[in-house]
Amino acid sequence: MKKSNKQRRAEIKARRVERTAASAARLRLPDVRLPQPAFAFAIGCEPADRLVLQQYNNTYGLLPDFYVGRPFTCRDCGAEELWTAKQQKWWYEVVHGHIDSRAVRCLACRRARRERLLNAAPGANLLREQTGRLRALGAVKPNARAVAEVDAALESKWWSLRVVAIQTMGRWGGAENLERLNAFMAARSEGGRRYFSWERLAADAAKSALMRRE
Ligand SMILES: [Zn+2]
Repeated sequence: MKKSNKQRRAEIKARRVERTAASAARLRLPDVRLPQPAFAFAIGCEPADRLVLQQYNNTYGLLPDFYVGRPFTCRDCGAEELWTAKQQKWWYEVVHGHIDSRAVRCLACRRARRERLLNAAPGANLLREQTGRLRALGAVKPNARAVAEVDAALESKWWSLRVVAIQTMGRWGGAENLERLNAFMAARSEGGRRYFSWERLAADAAKSALMRRE
């Protein structure tokens, strides 16, 4: 007998309910990657707050009932370490670390790594600082020093600085800046140097603003 649309819809709905129940049941299963409870309590464990995990630790996978200390080998120095249950609870439920993330470095190596990253940061900060200063220059009448700074920025290897330098010239206005802008863009499109499109966009915007003002 041919099924009616109504029957077909009911069947689809029933299958959907079944699937939802199955995945809910899967979520309630203990994390198979963890040791069994009896052993877990022997080496120290912490109960997991699944509500927090479900809310913050973006995952479709299994959630643990509890945390147990995990031995691991430091990725950098090879030391044998233990990631304690308490540390894990803090990591997943307070910091909301991704549910699949694991401790990979010992404390000393984590500190050393953070130090290295911090020492690398001034480059990015310096660039941000220079960009901010260039932008501020655009708000005031240019003096020789400001012009020199913009010229230096036009030669920078950082395109973000070059773009802000172009915008600053546009804000300064005047036939002189329009001329310099044209010369700069002409030089950039010569000699096989890559003509960066954001520079071109900035230059076009600056030039049309300049020409409107003339
Ligand atoms: Zn280490």
